[in-house]
Amino acid sequence: MHTPAGFVPAHAMPAVIPGTTLAFAYSDAKLLVRGSEAAPMVPTLAELAAAGVDGVRHYLGELAGVPCVAIVLTNDAGAPAGFRFSGLRALFFRIPEPLVALGARAFQVVEWDRTHRYCGRCGTATRDKGGERAKECPACGYVAYPRVSPAMMALVTRGRNLLLARSHRFPHGMYSALAGFVEPGETIEDCVRREVKEEVGVDVGTLTYFASQSWAFPHSLMIAYTAEYAGGELVPDGTEIADVRWFAADALPDMPPSLSIARRLIDATAARLRAT
Ligand SMILES: [Zn+2]
Repeated sequence: MHTPAGFVPAHAMPAVIPGTTLAFAYSDAKLLVRGSEAAPMVPTLAELAAAGVDGVRHYLGELAGVPCVAIVLTNDAGAPAGFRFSGLRALFFRIPEPLVALGARAFQVVEWDRTHRYCGRCGTATRDKGGERAKECPACGYVAYPRVSPAMMALVTRGRNLLLARSHRFPHGMYSALAGFVEPGETIEDCVRREVKEEVGVDVGTLTYFASQSWAFPHSLMIAYTAEYAGGELVPDGTEIADVRWFAADALPDMPPSLSIARRLIDATAARLRAT
Protein backbone atom coordinates (compact mmCIF):
# COMPACT_ATOMS: atom_id res chain seq x y z
CA MET A 1 0.00 0.00 0.00
CA HIS A 2 1.05 3.55 -0.66
CA THR A 3 -0.25 7.13 -0.71
CA PRO A 4 -3.11 7.19 -3.23
CA ALA A 5 -3.04 9.69 -6.12
CA GLY A 6 -5.09 12.76 -5.23
CA PHE A 7 -4.67 12.29 -1.47
CA VAL A 8 -3.33 15.25 0.55
CA PRO A 9 -2.38 14.09 4.05
CA ALA A 10 -2.94 16.33 7.08
CA HIS A 11 -3.31 15.85 10.83
CA ALA A 12 -5.02 19.03 12.11
CA MET A 13 -8.79 18.48 12.31
CA PRO A 14 -10.57 21.24 10.33
CA ALA A 15 -12.83 23.57 12.36
CA VAL A 16 -15.82 22.40 10.31
CA ILE A 17 -16.00 18.76 9.25
CA PRO A 18 -18.75 18.03 6.67
CA GLY A 19 -21.17 15.10 6.81
CA THR A 20 -19.73 13.88 3.49
CA THR A 21 -16.41 13.11 5.23
CA LEU A 22 -15.33 9.49 4.67
CA ALA A 23 -15.14 7.69 8.03
CA PHE A 24 -12.75 4.76 8.54
CA ALA A 25 -14.05 3.43 11.87
CA TYR A 26 -12.27 0.47 13.43
CA SER A 27 -13.33 -1.85 16.20
CA ASP A 28 -10.34 -4.03 17.02
CA ALA A 29 -8.89 -4.81 13.53
CA LYS A 30 -12.24 -4.62 11.69
CA LEU A 31 -13.45 -1.73 9.57
CA LEU A 32 -17.12 -0.66 9.77
CA VAL A 33 -18.66 -0.75 6.28
CA ARG A 34 -22.17 -0.55 4.90
CA GLY A 35 -23.75 -2.25 1.88
CA SER A 36 -23.68 -5.89 0.85
CA GLU A 37 -20.83 -8.37 1.10
CA ALA A 38 -20.31 -8.07 -2.67
CA ALA A 39 -20.51 -4.26 -2.78
CA PRO A 40 -19.24 -2.82 0.51
CA MET A 41 -18.91 0.95 0.96
CA VAL A 42 -16.95 3.14 3.34
CA PRO A 43 -19.59 5.19 5.23
CA THR A 44 -19.67 8.96 5.62
CA LEU A 45 -19.73 10.78 8.95
CA ALA A 46 -23.39 11.66 8.34
CA GLU A 47 -24.25 7.98 7.87
CA LEU A 48 -22.40 7.06 11.06
CA ALA A 49 -24.13 9.89 12.94
CA ALA A 50 -27.54 8.67 11.74
CA ALA A 51 -26.63 5.22 13.08
CA GLY A 52 -25.46 6.66 16.41
CA VAL A 53 -21.82 5.58 15.92
CA ASP A 54 -18.84 7.74 16.94
CA GLY A 55 -15.53 7.55 18.72
CA VAL A 56 -12.20 9.35 19.05
CA ARG A 57 -11.43 10.92 15.67
CA HIS A 58 -8.11 11.48 13.94
CA TYR A 59 -7.97 13.55 10.77
CA LEU A 60 -6.22 11.88 7.83
CA GLY A 61 -6.45 14.49 5.05
CA GLU A 62 -8.42 14.87 1.81
CA LEU A 63 -8.91 12.40 -1.03
CA ALA A 64 -9.80 14.34 -4.20
CA GLY A 65 -11.15 17.12 -1.97
CA VAL A 66 -13.19 14.79 0.30
CA PRO A 67 -12.08 14.88 3.96
CA CYS A 68 -11.21 11.53 5.58
CA VAL A 69 -11.11 10.61 9.27
CA ALA A 70 -10.05 7.56 11.26
CA ILE A 71 -12.36 6.71 14.18
CA VAL A 72 -11.45 4.60 17.20
CA LEU A 73 -14.41 2.45 18.27
CA THR A 74 -14.41 0.29 21.37
CA ASN A 75 -13.29 -3.28 20.73
CA ASP A 76 -16.73 -4.65 21.67
CA ALA A 77 -18.67 -2.15 19.51
CA GLY A 78 -21.60 -3.79 17.72
CA ALA A 79 -22.43 -2.98 14.08
CA PRO A 80 -25.69 -1.01 13.71
CA ALA A 81 -28.40 -2.15 11.28
CA GLY A 82 -27.20 -1.89 7.67
CA PHE A 83 -23.53 -1.98 8.69
CA ARG A 84 -21.04 -4.75 9.37
CA PHE A 85 -17.42 -5.11 10.40
CA SER A 86 -14.96 -6.42 7.83
CA GLY A 87 -11.28 -7.26 7.83
CA LEU A 88 -9.43 -4.93 5.46
CA ARG A 89 -8.02 -7.79 3.40
CA ALA A 90 -11.57 -8.99 2.60
CA LEU A 91 -12.18 -5.56 1.03
CA PHE A 92 -9.31 -5.78 -1.48
CA PHE A 93 -10.77 -5.51 -5.01
CA ARG A 94 -14.26 -4.83 -3.53
CA ILE A 95 -13.73 -1.17 -2.67
CA PRO A 96 -11.61 1.22 -4.77
CA GLU A 97 -7.86 0.79 -4.25
CA PRO A 98 -7.38 4.35 -2.86
CA LEU A 99 -9.90 3.53 -0.12
CA VAL A 100 -8.07 0.30 0.72
CA ALA A 101 -4.88 2.33 1.07
CA LEU A 102 -6.60 4.91 3.30
CA GLY A 103 -8.22 2.12 5.30
CA ALA A 104 -4.75 0.74 5.97
CA ARG A 105 -3.47 4.19 6.91
CA ALA A 106 -6.46 4.71 9.22
CA PHE A 107 -5.90 1.34 10.88
CA GLN A 108 -2.32 2.25 11.77
CA VAL A 109 -3.45 5.57 13.29
CA VAL A 110 -6.24 3.85 15.26
CA GLU A 111 -3.85 1.16 16.47
CA TRP A 112 -1.36 3.80 17.57
CA ASP A 113 -4.13 5.68 19.44
CA ARG A 114 -5.23 2.52 21.23
CA THR A 115 -1.72 1.49 22.25
CA HIS A 116 -0.46 4.91 23.41
CA ARG A 117 -3.13 6.00 25.88
CA TYR A 118 -0.61 6.05 28.71
CA CYS A 119 2.94 7.28 28.82
CA GLY A 120 5.40 4.43 28.28
CA ARG A 121 7.88 6.16 30.61
CA CYS A 122 5.78 7.22 33.62
CA GLY A 123 2.27 5.79 33.09
CA THR A 124 0.37 9.10 33.05
CA ALA A 125 -2.55 9.38 30.59
CA THR A 126 -1.31 10.96 27.34
CA ARG A 127 -2.98 13.64 25.24
CA ASP A 128 -2.87 14.50 21.53
CA LYS A 129 -0.03 16.93 20.80
CA GLY A 130 -0.83 20.03 18.78
CA GLY A 131 0.90 20.59 15.44
CA GLU A 132 1.81 17.00 14.60
CA ARG A 133 0.53 13.43 14.75
CA ALA A 134 1.87 12.63 18.20
CA LYS A 135 0.79 11.98 21.78
CA GLU A 136 2.52 13.68 24.66
CA CYS A 137 2.71 13.01 28.34
CA PRO A 138 1.59 16.04 30.43
CA ALA A 139 3.68 14.86 33.39
CA CYS A 140 7.10 14.06 31.92
CA GLY A 141 6.91 15.40 28.34
CA TYR A 142 7.53 12.06 26.61
CA VAL A 143 6.27 12.17 23.00
CA ALA A 144 5.06 9.07 21.12
CA TYR A 145 4.64 9.00 17.34
CA PRO A 146 2.83 6.35 15.29
CA ARG A 147 5.12 3.36 15.04
CA VAL A 148 6.42 2.24 11.65
CA SER A 149 8.66 -0.84 11.63
CA PRO A 150 11.07 -1.14 8.69
CA ALA A 151 11.56 -4.60 7.29
CA MET A 152 13.62 -5.90 4.39
CA MET A 153 12.64 -8.24 1.60
CA ALA A 154 15.37 -9.87 -0.46
CA LEU A 155 15.19 -11.90 -3.63
CA VAL A 156 18.57 -13.60 -4.05
CA THR A 157 19.61 -14.33 -7.64
CA ARG A 158 22.30 -16.64 -9.06
CA GLY A 159 22.62 -16.51 -12.82
CA ARG A 160 19.08 -17.16 -14.09
CA ASN A 161 17.92 -18.75 -10.83
CA LEU A 162 15.95 -17.25 -7.95
CA LEU A 163 16.18 -18.24 -4.29
CA LEU A 164 12.72 -18.80 -2.85
CA ALA A 165 11.81 -20.13 0.57
CA ARG A 166 8.80 -21.63 2.32
CA SER A 167 7.83 -20.42 5.76
CA HIS A 168 6.00 -22.83 8.06
CA ARG A 169 3.20 -20.23 8.02
CA PHE A 170 2.68 -20.36 4.22
CA PRO A 171 -0.13 -22.23 2.48
CA HIS A 172 1.07 -25.63 1.20
CA GLY A 173 3.34 -25.36 -1.84
CA MET A 174 3.85 -21.60 -1.70
CA TYR A 175 7.33 -20.08 -1.89
CA SER A 176 8.40 -16.44 -1.60
CA ALA A 177 11.35 -14.08 -1.17
CA LEU A 178 13.06 -13.76 2.22
CA ALA A 179 11.93 -11.10 4.70
CA GLY A 180 12.76 -9.86 8.18
CA PHE A 181 12.64 -6.86 10.51
CA VAL A 182 15.44 -4.33 10.89
CA GLU A 183 17.21 -4.46 14.27
CA PRO A 184 18.49 -1.45 16.24
CA GLY A 185 21.81 -0.20 14.86
CA GLU A 186 21.35 -1.76 11.41
CA THR A 187 21.03 -0.18 8.00
CA ILE A 188 18.52 -1.82 5.70
CA GLU A 189 21.45 -3.28 3.76
CA ASP A 190 22.94 -4.73 6.98
CA CYS A 191 19.56 -6.28 7.64
CA VAL A 192 19.39 -7.90 4.19
CA ARG A 193 22.84 -9.50 4.63
CA ARG A 194 22.13 -10.69 8.18
CA GLU A 195 18.65 -12.08 7.49
CA VAL A 196 19.72 -13.92 4.33
CA LYS A 197 22.64 -15.47 6.20
CA GLU A 198 20.52 -16.38 9.24
CA GLU A 199 17.54 -17.74 7.34
CA VAL A 200 19.23 -19.71 4.54
CA GLY A 201 22.99 -19.65 5.23
CA VAL A 202 24.26 -17.84 2.13
CA ASP A 203 26.19 -14.61 1.58
CA VAL A 204 25.05 -11.95 -0.86
CA GLY A 205 27.00 -9.34 -2.82
CA THR A 206 25.50 -6.46 -4.75
CA LEU A 207 22.07 -5.29 -3.54
CA THR A 208 19.70 -3.43 -5.86
CA TYR A 209 16.76 -1.48 -4.51
CA PHE A 210 13.41 -2.52 -6.02
CA ALA A 211 10.52 -0.73 -4.24
CA SER A 212 8.87 -0.29 -0.85
CA GLN A 213 5.38 -1.02 0.43
CA SER A 214 3.50 0.08 3.52
CA TRP A 215 1.87 -2.91 5.18
CA ALA A 216 -0.69 -2.18 7.88
CA PHE A 217 -0.65 -5.54 9.69
CA PRO A 218 0.19 -3.96 11.96
CA HIS A 219 2.73 -1.27 11.00
CA SER A 220 5.49 -2.43 8.65
CA LEU A 221 7.33 -0.67 5.90
CA MET A 222 8.66 -3.40 3.61
CA ILE A 223 11.76 -2.34 1.62
CA ALA A 224 12.55 -4.77 -1.20
CA TYR A 225 15.85 -5.59 -2.87
CA THR A 226 17.36 -8.06 -5.26
CA ALA A 227 20.63 -9.51 -3.94
CA GLU A 228 23.30 -11.33 -5.94
CA TYR A 229 24.45 -14.65 -4.51
CA ALA A 230 28.07 -14.46 -3.35
CA GLY A 231 28.71 -17.84 -1.68
CA GLY A 232 27.70 -20.48 0.84
CA GLU A 233 25.50 -23.59 0.91
CA LEU A 234 21.73 -23.44 1.36
CA VAL A 235 20.86 -24.32 4.95
CA PRO A 236 17.34 -23.39 6.08
CA ASP A 237 17.29 -22.14 9.67
CA GLY A 238 14.75 -24.80 10.66
CA THR A 239 12.57 -22.48 12.73
CA GLU A 240 11.33 -19.75 10.38
CA ILE A 241 12.19 -21.46 7.08
CA ALA A 242 10.75 -24.89 6.25
CA ASP A 243 12.40 -25.24 2.83
CA VAL A 244 14.54 -23.17 0.50
CA ARG A 245 15.48 -23.85 -3.14
CA TRP A 246 16.85 -22.35 -6.30
CA PHE A 247 14.17 -22.04 -8.98
CA ALA A 248 14.80 -21.35 -12.67
CA ALA A 249 13.24 -18.04 -13.72
CA ASP A 250 10.97 -19.91 -16.15
CA ALA A 251 9.88 -22.67 -13.72
CA LEU A 252 8.55 -20.94 -10.61
CA PRO A 253 6.39 -22.51 -7.86
CA ASP A 254 3.17 -21.21 -6.29
CA MET A 255 3.78 -17.68 -5.07
CA PRO A 256 2.04 -14.92 -3.05
CA PRO A 257 -0.82 -12.98 -4.73
CA SER A 258 0.00 -10.14 -7.11
CA LEU A 259 -1.09 -7.53 -4.57
CA SER A 260 2.04 -8.18 -2.51
CA ILE A 261 5.38 -6.54 -3.08
CA ALA A 262 6.88 -10.05 -2.86
CA ARG A 263 5.06 -11.12 -6.01
CA ARG A 264 5.90 -7.91 -7.86
CA LEU A 265 9.57 -8.34 -6.91
CA ILE A 266 9.64 -11.96 -8.07
CA ASP A 267 7.71 -11.31 -11.30
CA ALA A 268 9.87 -8.33 -12.30
CA THR A 269 13.12 -10.13 -11.50
CA ALA A 270 12.09 -13.37 -13.23
CA ALA A 271 11.13 -11.39 -16.35
CA ARG A 272 14.50 -9.63 -16.31
CA LEU A 273 16.43 -12.90 -15.92
CA ARG A 274 14.42 -14.65 -18.64
CA ALA A 275 15.37 -11.83 -21.00
CA THR A 276 19.13 -12.26 -20.36
ZN1 LIG B 1 5.26 10.45 31.21
